[in-house]
Amino acid sequence: MPCDIFGLLQYETNKLVIIKSRRLGSLKWSLNTAIFMFIGIMMFWNKEYQEHDLVVSSVTTKVKGVVMAQSPDVGTMLWDVVDHSGIFKEKNSFFVVTNVLITKRQKQGKCPEVLISGKRCLADKDCEKGYWDQRTHGVQTGACVNFDNMHKTCEVSAWCPIEATKKPPRPALFLAAENFTVLIKNNIRFPAFNYFKRNILPEMTETYLKSCMYNRQRDPLCPIFRLGDIVKEAKENFTEMAVEGGIIGVNIKWNCDLDQFFRHCRPMYTFQRLDEKQSNRTVYPGLSFRFARYYNENGVETRTLYKVFGIRFDVLVYGTAGKFSIIQLIIYIGSTLSYYALTTVFIDWLISTSCYAKEAQQDFTKMKVESVEARKQKLLCVSFVDEDHLRLVKPSRKKPLQKVKAVDTHPKKGNAARTRALAAVLQIPPRQKAGTELQEMPQSGCLAWCMCGRCRPSDSLQEQLCCRQSSGSCLTTSPLFDRLLLSRVVLESVLLYREPLLDLPEGGAIRNLRHCAYSLYIDWRFDGSKEDGIPVMPSCCVWRIRDKYPSSDGRYRGLQPETKVLIHSGENS
Ligand code: ZN
Ligand code: ZN
Repeated sequence: MPCDIFGLLQYETNKLVIIKSRRLGSLKWSLNTAIFMFIGIMMFWNKEYQEHDLVVSSVTTKVKGVVMAQSPDVGTMLWDVVDHSGIFKEKNSFFVVTNVLITKRQKQGKCPEVLISGKRCLADKDCEKGYWDQRTHGVQTGACVNFDNMHKTCEVSAWCPIEATKKPPRPALFLAAENFTVLIKNNIRFPAFNYFKRNILPEMTETYLKSCMYNRQRDPLCPIFRLGDIVKEAKENFTEMAVEGGIIGVNIKWNCDLDQFFRHCRPMYTFQRLDEKQSNRTVYPGLSFRFARYYNENGVETRTLYKVFGIRFDVLVYGTAGKFSIIQLIIYIGSTLSYYALTTVFIDWLISTSCYAKEAQQDFTKMKVESVEARKQKLLCVSFVDEDHLRLVKPSRKKPLQKVKAVDTHPKKGNAARTRALAAVLQIPPRQKAGTELQEMPQSGCLAWCMCGRCRPSDSLQEQLCCRQSSGSCLTTSPLFDRLLLSRVVLESVLLYREPLLDLPEGGAIRNLRHCAYSLYIDWRFDGSKEDGIPVMPSCCVWRIRDKYPSSDGRYRGLQPETKVLIHSGENS
C-alpha cells in the first residue's frame, strides 16, 4: 500500500454521543421549534423572501392661488401664480412668495451710499474714486455727500435710489399664500420589475380630483395639498415661517409589495422642515432672493427691485419594491441555519453544569469528551520505609535518586485483597536462619546517599536509592522482608499461583525466584501501582534479594527506565 504522506487518503467524521433522555429530547425539539417559528415570523415580517429594487421617479407640480396685499411703500399689490412661480424654476420643487421688499423707480445715476454698508465720511478725502467692495451698492465717485440731516456717506454710481436695508415686514405681506393649493404629480418606476405607477391612482376620477384635498386622516392619498396644511404637518407655523421664508420637504414614500397575493403599492406623504429654523441663531435665516422688472420711463431705463422671501417646497421621492425571488428565499434559509446551533450550545452547556449532572445523576461531560494528554516524561516512584506516602520524582542526571526532590506525593492505597494475601503468607513460619544471613550482607557505611548502611555503590544515579530518608535501621532487617520476599516456599507458591502447571526444578529456577521476589516487593511497598511512575527498588533491598538468589554469572542488568523495562518486571536483572 502506498503511504499517504499528506494524510489525504482519508475522511474524518465527528463521533456523536446520543443521550437517550426524554427531557433533553423534548428540550431540543422545543428549542428548535421556537427557532423555526422565529425564523418564519421574521421571514414574513421583513419579507426576506423578496428581491428588492429602488424607485426611479419624476415630479411635476402645479400651484394655484392668488393673493392681494397692502404694502406701505407700494400700496395694493395683487400676485397670482405666474408672479409666484414664474420667477423660480427648479427640478422637483416649487416656490411660493410670502413676503417682499420693493424698491420702485430705480434709475442709473449718482446717490449717497446707504448708511449700514457704506462707510461714513466727513470730507471728500475719505472717499476713494472707483472703489468698490462686496458690501457697497455701486462704484464710489470720490465725493462725500449728505445721506440725511445727520450723516454723510460716500457718493456712488449705482441704481438710485439704493435699496434701503430693512428687515422683512412682519406680519408677512402674502400670508394668504397659506390657502394656495398644489397638485403634485409623481410618476414612479421600478426598473427591475418593469413596474410603473403614479400617485394619481387609477380609481381617482376627475370629479374626485376637483374636490379632494390631502388630509392625513381623512384623505391621505389625494395629490392636492393646501400649503398651510403642508407647513402644519411639518410642525411649523405658517405665519412665522412666511416672514423670512424657509424650505419644506414633501416626502413621497413608495413601499411596494408586488407579489400577487399581497399586492400593495401606494404613496405615503410626510412633511418636514429642511432648513435651520431658529432664525435668531442662523446668520442668513430663511430663504430670500432679488429680482427686478424693467420698464421705460420717459425714455430712461427704470426698474422695480424686488427682494422676495418665500417657502420652497422640495418633493423627495424614495421607496423600494419587493417581489418573491426563489434565490433570495434560499439565501435567507441558508443564513438562518446557524441559529439551530444555539440549541446545541444551550443543551451542551446545560448538561455540563453540575446542577444538571446532580439532578440527572449522570455526568455527560465524561461521555462526551475524551481527554487525551500528551506523553510526559515518565516519573519514577519511590517508597521510603520511614514515610507513609509514595514520592514521584523526575530522574536527574546530576543527583543520586535518593537526593532528588519529589514533584508529587501519593498516599498509599489500602488494598483488602493484598492484606488477605499477606495474612496467608504470614501463616508460614519464619525461617530460622534469617538472622545469620543478614550478618553475611556486606556493609557499605561510606555511601553519602545511604541512610541504612546496607546499600551498595552503583554507577547509575537512578540506582543510588536507599530504603529510607533519614538514618535508621534497614528495611531488610524487618522479619517480614525475609518471610515475604526471600522464603522459597512463598516465592514458589506465588509462581505456581500465577502459572499452576509451571515446572519448578528441584534447585529452582533462581532467576524466576529472584524476579518473583522483585514483583512481590513492588506489590508490597507500592501497592502494585504503576500508573503514576516507575517503581524503583532501593539498593539494599535489591542486593538482599540478589544475594539470596544470585545470577549464575554474577551480572545484573539493573534499572533501565528509558527502555521502560522495570526492575520488577521480570525482564531484567
Ligand atoms: Zn541504604
Ligand atoms: Zn536499607
